[in-house]
Amino acid sequence: MQLDREKFIRLLREKGLKVTTQRLAVLTALSKKQDSHLTAEEIYELVKVESPDIGLATVYRTIQMLLELKIVDRIYLDDGYVRYELGHVYEDEDSHHHHHLICVKCGRVMSFQGDLMEEFEKRMEEKTGFFIQDHDVKLYGYCVDCQKDVDVK
Ligand SMILES: [Zn+2]
Ligand SMILES: [Zn+2]
Ligand SMILES: [Zn+2]
Repeated sequence: MQLDREKFIRLLREKGLKVTTQRLAVLTALSKKQDSHLTAEEIYELVKVESPDIGLATVYRTIQMLLELKIVDRIYLDDGYVRYELGHVYEDEDSHHHHHLICVKCGRVMSFQGDLMEEFEKRMEEKTGFFIQDHDVKLYGYCVDCQKDVDVK
């Protein structure tokens, strides 16, 4: 993911938002590592390094706002925390939004692109008449490192 300041600024403007230090700081924190799935507190810790004058409450408020505009997505990785990542809007336009592989031993989370859900959704719509808008895929298992310690076939 190649993300930069200019892209954030453009995006905030497109959404009709003022470009503020807080907003840029939260987005920058989320883009620091690929595959970063951060809690609000972790985002705050990263923001603090660059902008020590921004408080936790402001970070929470900023996340909420970016969430409503779908600039940021909320994700649940079943570890009891609410986590955030940059929204689909940041991924290549024609590429599928990513999903997650979750290691049940060490909790590592990896991302992957693409799945066979389009075909499945089409079939479900035909079968049920339901209009599907989105989906979420999580695959659970053991990462390469953890496989050494468990019996996997
Ligand atoms: Zn993710
Ligand atoms: Zn693992
Ligand atoms: Zn998908």
